[in-house]
Amino acid sequence: MIVSLHVATGAALGAVVRSRPLALLLGAPLHVAGDRVPHEDIPDRSFEIGSGLAALGLLAARRGPLDPAVLGGVAAAVPDLEHVVPWLRPGGEKIFHRGGGRHGAGMPAETQLLLAGALVGLLLGRRR
Ligand SMILES: [Zn+2]
Repeated sequence: MIVSLHVATGAALGAVVRSRPLALLLGAPLHVAGDRVPHEDIPDRSFEIGSGLAALGLLAARRGPLDPAVLGGVAAAVPDLEHVVPWLRPGGEKIFHRGGGRHGAGMPAETQLLLAGALVGLLLGRRR
């Protein structure tokens, strides 16, 4: 699943549970669940990282960096770091991406982007 949608779903979850520890704890399982959904990926790594960081930046600016939504967004995106940072997978074994996930046919990248934008927009608009 694309990074910005991981961020958006994690943030939405954090906003719902309204608990920092819970948001952090649920991020990784949410990530794994998200990757289970058949989906297309965006092969552009810098776009992936850039859009994820942009979503987090917007949420942090609007809700504060320690808001459960922001922490949830970070926690849900962090498992994808093992694609980029080699020392996170000693022995070459990925922890969160065993079996390689489902790629190719499935939810189009455009749909995921739209969904991510809608979720982030919702979270930016509504303040507790
Ligand atoms: Zn992933």
